[in-house]
Amino acid sequence: MDLGLRGKVAIVTASSRGIGKGVARVMLQEGARVMLFARSIDELKNTALELSRETGGDVAYVQGDLTNRDDVMRLIEETRRVMGPIDVLVYNTGPPKPGLFSELTFDDWDYAVKLLLLSAVWLTKGVVNDMVKRGWGRLIYVTSLTLRQPISNLVLSNTVRLSLAGLVKSLANEYGPKGITANGVMQGYVMTDRVRKLAEDEAKRSGVSIEEVLRSMAKDIPVGRYGNPEEIGYLVAFLASDKASYINGSMILIDGGFVKCVP
Ligand code: NAD
Repeated sequence: MDLGLRGKVAIVTASSRGIGKGVARVMLQEGARVMLFARSIDELKNTALELSRETGGDVAYVQGDLTNRDDVMRLIEETRRVMGPIDVLVYNTGPPKPGLFSELTFDDWDYAVKLLLLSAVWLTKGVVNDMVKRGWGRLIYVTSLTLRQPISNLVLSNTVRLSLAGLVKSLANEYGPKGITANGVMQGYVMTDRVRKLAEDEAKRSGVSIEEVLRSMAKDIPVGRYGNPEEIGYLVAFLASDKASYINGSMILIDGGFVKCVP
């Protein structure tokens, strides 16, 4: 199936590694032109080089922090300057600080609201007018399964990310008539550096091997394994395509069956 993404300009945030990088890889394989955004310039350089060699696609990057509004606006201006008007926004973030309610400070909450909500608002404000002018656009928000099933030590994610479901529905209503769809992705466990690091920490704490920790974490996933970042990318690429034009205002779970409740 040709997704028709050839030549479309896509911003993918938090994309120097992990899920964002997997999404960028698939979008490039589909012929989209991709602007990466993350905090580490060295990682961005390496990722852009790797993806460009591997896919032969048009990939560039802007260094910046999602919690800084000026950086986000610079990303949008730079993308327009280098690649032209933005067709697709793939919003992904760095992970929020883990912790129980009793462990989190007011500053942690302020930061999480910037990282997990305000950055989405800034990005959307920045790109949506281009899309309205052209009568076509795709707004895709990569969030977490915590929107469906809270995880006990991820209180910031459980709470702040829920607002993205409200944002997606509001945007779907307002911009659907203008040819723009807004959808969210709620991914479950995906094998990235972050998950490896969490497993390493747990292994140290509990005195078992990393492999054992990973195996025990995967036990509750009916398909019996973690997802890989490209599997999130395939869903995102489909949502970005014309083929997904009747999907609007949806939050889509992609978790190997981990969440057991009926939607
Ligand atoms: P990761 O640590 O592997 O990658 C995070 C990326 O975000 C990196 O490119 C990093 O440079 C970038 N980043 C971090 N903070 C940033 C900031 N303030 N501004 C700009 N860029 C920033 O993480 P991941 O596993 O790919 O997770 C991506 C997102 O998905 C996170 O929000 C995470 O909480 C969420 N998530 C991950 C999983 C999983 O199993 N991996 C499951 C559910 C939700």
